[in-house]
Amino acid sequence: MKRILLKPGREKSVLNRHPWVFSGAIGRLEGPPQPGEVVAVADHAGQPLALADYNPRSQITLRILTFDPSEGIEATFWRGRLEASLRRREALPDAAEHSAERLVYAESDGLPGLIVDRYGDFLVLQALTLGMDRRKALLAELLRELLRPRGIYERSDVDVRAQEGLPEATGLLWGEPPPERVEIDECGLRFWVDLYRGHKTGFYLDQRVNRRRVAPYCAGREVLNAFSYTGAFAAYALRHGARRVVNLDSSAEALRAAAEHIALNGLPAEAVESVEGDAFRVLRAWRDEGRAFDLIILDPPKFAFSRAQLMAATRGYKDINLLAMKLLRPGGILCTFSCSGLVSEDLFQKILFGASLDAGREVRILERLTQAPDHPVSLAFPEGAYLKGFICRVE
Ligand code: SAH
Repeated sequence: MKRILLKPGREKSVLNRHPWVFSGAIGRLEGPPQPGEVVAVADHAGQPLALADYNPRSQITLRILTFDPSEGIEATFWRGRLEASLRRREALPDAAEHSAERLVYAESDGLPGLIVDRYGDFLVLQALTLGMDRRKALLAELLRELLRPRGIYERSDVDVRAQEGLPEATGLLWGEPPPERVEIDECGLRFWVDLYRGHKTGFYLDQRVNRRRVAPYCAGREVLNAFSYTGAFAAYALRHGARRVVNLDSSAEALRAAAEHIALNGLPAEAVESVEGDAFRVLRAWRDEGRAFDLIILDPPKFAFSRAQLMAATRGYKDINLLAMKLLRPGGILCTFSCSGLVSEDLFQKILFGASLDAGREVRILERLTQAPDHPVSLAFPEGAYLKGFICRVE
């Protein structure tokens, strides 16, 4: 195995078990290794530290696979890592209450660059790095042995692959192609998921627990589900006795799916209104018209993809939350989320405070929300935390 020596002092993050080594920390390349190779990582004096996937095209030049340099990186290694990830999911208290879940959450599960989600009998795999991209046939084979799925479909159609010098990739990796829509069960509600074209790998699995937490607040209330996607929050709201739900999204296709999910779950179609449009504009227009709601869910897409976008993202979150606060009746509930990893929970809370001052509304946090536990956050890799939310009461 070829070896990479780090610059003096740059072994610190590795000793702290952080899985990323940036290009600036790379000292000497011995060999030199080829992009995509597994390499031995040592400190500047040659002391072995770890084994890693090497990709000089990426700012994150090394992704550490193991901090035990004596381990062998072959099929048994990968099988062990996958088994450990599956065990963590099986041990979750709500494991039996859904048929869709994240089985592998990349760095957070010791499998840098690999996502595996289960939708009933089908698996969706995402390879985000060159190393994982190269071994996806092996990973599919191991997943087949461990889980006996009907099919494994690849959804590596994500922008971050460009940073690894990889094109997007989609297609069947093994078994049967999934049907046009796969039915899943979440907490007793049924949803159809399009594994070929749906967002992420098909469904926002990270919001599962939050949907459950928000639902009881919806009883008897008039709910605005802004950024609704396929209406998962709306189905929970109606099941918990919401009086009315407005689904608002810029995608007509997502709204159609949301309406189908109401019927699929035997919920009252007459209680649902679909509004297609840009949430910023629609909320502003409703504010001007004096329209009001009892509960508003704001689950916008990621606004900040880089530090350079953080200011604009902050403004975006402030605007949309300010509008929502103004649209709430006194005593109304705001369920607001940010999935931008660069916006910390602390910053998000400060943004909400700014919005509340401008809205002239007094706001209290009732509950703090985060990503579902099948998206765990390793203490060694805090970057794995990205989703945060608050359930607030707005006076
Ligand atoms: N809450 C959803 C997930 C929301 S994902 C769930 O639980 O499944 C974000 C959604 O915002 C996407 O459906 C996307 O189509 C929509 N969207 C993005 N920009 C928008 C905008 N400016 N106005 C309205 N909807 C938007």
